[in-house]
Amino acid sequence: MNEISNRVRDLTPRLVALRRDLHQHPEIAFEEVRTSAIVASRLRELGLEPRTGLGKTGVVAVWDSGRPGPTVLARADMDALPVPEEKAVEYRSTVEGKMHACGHDGHTAVLLSVAEVVTGMADQLSGRVVFVFQPAEEIVRGASAMLADGALDGIDVDHVIGLHLSSEHEVGTVALRTGPSMAATDSFRIAVRGHGGHAAYPHQNVDPVLAAAHVVLALQSLVSRETDPIDNSVISLTSVHGGTAYNIIPEEVELKGTLRTFNVDTRERLSRRIREVATGVSTTLRCTVDIEWFEGTPAVVNDEVETDLVARVAGAAPSVTEVKRSSQAMGGDDMALWLQQAKGAYFYVGARGGEATAYPHHHPRFDIDERSLPIAAEVLASGVVELLAGQD
Ligand SMILES: [Zn+2]
Ligand SMILES: [Zn+2]
Repeated sequence: MNEISNRVRDLTPRLVALRRDLHQHPEIAFEEVRTSAIVASRLRELGLEPRTGLGKTGVVAVWDSGRPGPTVLARADMDALPVPEEKAVEYRSTVEGKMHACGHDGHTAVLLSVAEVVTGMADQLSGRVVFVFQPAEEIVRGASAMLADGALDGIDVDHVIGLHLSSEHEVGTVALRTGPSMAATDSFRIAVRGHGGHAAYPHQNVDPVLAAAHVVLALQSLVSRETDPIDNSVISLTSVHGGTAYNIIPEEVELKGTLRTFNVDTRERLSRRIREVATGVSTTLRCTVDIEWFEGTPAVVNDEVETDLVARVAGAAPSVTEVKRSSQAMGGDDMALWLQQAKGAYFYVGARGGEATAYPHHHPRFDIDERSLPIAAEVLASGVVELLAGQD
């Protein structure tokens, strides 16, 4: 453990400098061209042979100790957001309208540091590490694109590990939980079609506004009346569009919304019931419906073994002051797809160190306290090393 701390301390200036460089040059989903070129060249400097262009801009490098042992996959996401940066720091975004407002600049720099630590300890380790640098987490399509491109073809993974820097937690804190920790995220579009006409003569028309209003209300009964109150889930209708004037009943009203669930069966049941209820209610009111379903990412589910292991190494890391249980988040993360390849753990590393770093993720003033970077590197490297050393 001490050796990892020392190695991380030595490379911290490079880690912080790279994070700042990435922060100044944010690239959004599937546009991470510069970022992935930097990642690939850093990996080559470490003697690795990265595969590039996976899922457009993803990078994978396998480090092999040459000795038999488990294979550990460590993942970082690389994408920024279409958010105009509002903070006045020397490393602020140089690209108008785009910024690293979620901390993925930190994740990328941290995982490269972990690669440096692991390759530097080659003579002491057994097994393999798969370093995954993923595009397009913010639109939850990067992981699936990489997997579809064969990112893991021929690679049998035993454990998966990754982290998210978090402004919800103080610097020095590591937060995680066993089991479902982030929600499955699906979205949908419901077009309710009637028969438009003059608003003064509703009996001559079929009103999709009334039907859509009933659909909105009826959908809100699915969580409150049909779902176990202990089984957290959310249905939110987030967009209602239709009509052009005071005196015209429109042809169509469009609803959009999202479904968040943790349980696989609940996800399946609620996606079916949303369609049934929207169709049934609309039909009753003489309208027709056209429903488009956009399947998102599954829930992030942490395994007990890896979660306990991360909690243990975090507790022993000199830079960590507190290890705590995180609460379940209704947000999603396509880390879920990597966690479907093998059991593993996804954890939060506190990045809030005062007012300037207390803004929520995706806020135009979002920033991380850079003291969190070496902490994240230390815990992630320790987790990888411990997983390599452990039984699989
Ligand atoms: Zn984000
Ligand atoms: Zn994020």
